[in-house]
Amino acid sequence: MGQADLVLRPRTRSEVQAMVRATARMGLPLVAQGGATGLVGGATAQRGEVLLSLKRLNQIRQLDTVGLSVTAEAGCILADLQRAAAEKNLLMPLSLAAEGSCTLGGNLATNAGGTQVLRWGNARDLCLGLEVVTADGDCWSDLDGLRKDHRGLNLRDLFIGSEGTLGIITAAVMKLAPAPRSRMAAWVTLDSLAQALDLLCSARTVLGDALSGFEVMGEAAQTLIAPLPLPVAPWAVLLELSSPRDEAPVREDLVAWLGQMLERAWVREACVSHSLAQFQAFWALRESIPGAQTRAGGNLKHDISLPLRCIPQFVHECEAALAQHFPGARPVVFGHLGDGNLHYNIAPPEGQTLATFSAQEPLINRVIFDLVAKHQGSFSAEHGIGRLRAEELAHRGNSTGLALMHRIKRALDPQNRLNPGRVLLASRPDGP
Ligand SMILES: Cc1cc2nc3c(=O)[nH]c(=O)nc-3n(C[C@H](O)[C@H](O)[C@H](O)COP(=O)(O)OP(=O)(O)OC[C@H]3O[C@@H](n4cnc5c(N)ncnc54)[C@H](O)[C@@H]3O)c2cc1C
Repeated sequence: MGQADLVLRPRTRSEVQAMVRATARMGLPLVAQGGATGLVGGATAQRGEVLLSLKRLNQIRQLDTVGLSVTAEAGCILADLQRAAAEKNLLMPLSLAAEGSCTLGGNLATNAGGTQVLRWGNARDLCLGLEVVTADGDCWSDLDGLRKDHRGLNLRDLFIGSEGTLGIITAAVMKLAPAPRSRMAAWVTLDSLAQALDLLCSARTVLGDALSGFEVMGEAAQTLIAPLPLPVAPWAVLLELSSPRDEAPVREDLVAWLGQMLERAWVREACVSHSLAQFQAFWALRESIPGAQTRAGGNLKHDISLPLRCIPQFVHECEAALAQHFPGARPVVFGHLGDGNLHYNIAPPEGQTLATFSAQEPLINRVIFDLVAKHQGSFSAEHGIGRLRAEELAHRGNSTGLALMHRIKRALDPQNRLNPGRVLLASRPDGP
């Protein structure tokens, strides 16, 4: 909730429209909030701002078992949608560690990624349509759920990922898939990130579409969550298979492939989950890393993406640069390697508090983001820009792209009332 002067909690789309119109008449800035799990400060209201919580807008309007889609309101909790799909023997493919609290509206506003992007894509790829309340209180609805529809410009993609700066998402149609008949995970340890990439390439070729997740964890990240299924190693991979086939042949394929990887010495050790409980336990370990970091005193977070081929070299160069400029600083690296997305977090040197270490944050960010740029990567992969990275975007963003973004913002929200100060800094000149 932050320091909001007023909190509004609509139950219906019409109430959202009335509230947007009323605050427009008064010229009040409006901050949309779903589950408040965002990591870049986008949904936290400041003094003088009105918070618009979408959490009561939480009805599932339709679950279409023929068209394989669900039409749901923005405040639906992601895990509830997953459960509703599972009850019909279907899969809601979007999945992330915050799924017990984050909302569909927040997922779309941030174009959330998560653990299944490798197989299903991110929130944008899974969205078939939106319902949006515009800055002046009108409603644009595109909830037909059509898989093919080319009636003019794609407004849906404009709102997805706009982090509440262009309109308020009130409902969406999301793709579903048949529930997999078999799901299993393997925990694999390796000596290097280059080996992890080799393993990914081989898994994609041999295991094909069944490969639905490929996560990596560096030594420091593993140490935070030990005990593990295998001893801590320089790198560990958690890979997931999900398939419409029966479990036995999928398991046979996986075990045979891992056997080859061991023979070729591409991996140190490997083990495969033997039950649903063990599968969930492997994932629970991976998803416990964010909490474990907090309990260990916290760190400076960087959610970056890079071309896959550049990742080992980037990590090597970044470690060397940090050791040179910030002796003792400890990288805690993990993430969705299959998507080229690393959470490249930096813990303070032993004995130093995060508060003291944070004084160096701008310099640390510069070292990391300069190297990201050198390797044609992105300083914001899946967490968004919010307030935290708005300066970074203003300085590092492509100038023509930024000018276009400002024009779109002015066209859709001329009073700059929706999430002001998030994503785009207000002061930018008109540009070309
Ligand atoms: C432990 C943990 C793990 C996470 N893992 C991942 C991960 O793997 N992948 C990933 O992508 N993210 C991850 N996140 C980040 C976060 O969970 C996602 O960004 C999520 O999609 C945010 O949803 P929310 O409902 O909490 O949105 P909020 O935090 O409430 O809002 C996020 C942004 O969206 C805007 N917004 C919210 N609802 C609406 C709406 N209805 N209309 C318009 N704008 C709106 C807000 O104004 C804000 O700018 C993680 C977070 C945590 C705490």
